Amino acid sequence: MFIAKVVAIVVIILVIVEAVKTMADSNELFSQIYQQKLAEQVHQGEFKNKIPKPNFLRGGEFCITSSYGDARSYNDILGFHNGIDIANKLGDLDTIITAPHDGIVTIRIVNGGECRVGERTIYYNGSLALELYNDTFKTVYLHTGSIKVANGSLVKQGQPIAKIGSNGCSIGNHLHYEIYKGSGDFNYRIENPDQYVSYKRC
Ligand SMILES: [Zn+2]
Repeated sequence: MFIAKVVAIVVIILVIVEAVKTMADSNELFSQIYQQKLAEQVHQGEFKNKIPKPNFLRGGEFCITSSYGDARSYNDILGFHNGIDIANKLGDLDTIITAPHDGIVTIRIVNGGECRVGERTIYYNGSLALELYNDTFKTVYLHTGSIKVANGSLVKQGQPIAKIGSNGCSIGNHLHYEIYKGSGDFNYRIENPDQYVSYKRC
């Protein structure tokens, strides 16, 4: 009986180790495929509008509800807001996010869970994080509703990419927008999105 338990525990540990290794391998593989694809597009001169357009939301009037660097308290851990939150002043309309710049789409899975925003505890489902890359900029879009572009596809500035939503750790429809500037070798450094958007604080 004791031996059976030990064997069962060892088997479980091995399965977990293997699953973690597989995840790491697939991430590594994905990033290699992605970088190769990106390099090909750069080589072919596909990215013509590389700098993010300051006004890229359609279907309302927009303002910034939370700025870059605002103190954040998620799960009682004080953090730094690494993007800006933009909301529709006219309410929960069908707000379309268009691509601020040419780029390749990457869609990441964000696990569901529990988070606390101020006094509120939110239980949220898994969601998708949309990212757009070129060799000059990378931009990130969180809490979106339906995503209108496929993983790995090439999008052009102005093309609809998603709707604004309230998925993930969020208490109302808004877009969380992050900007990273590239250094030409697929390394990106975070920037304050304020200097790239025409939206003002609400
Ligand atoms: Zn945010």
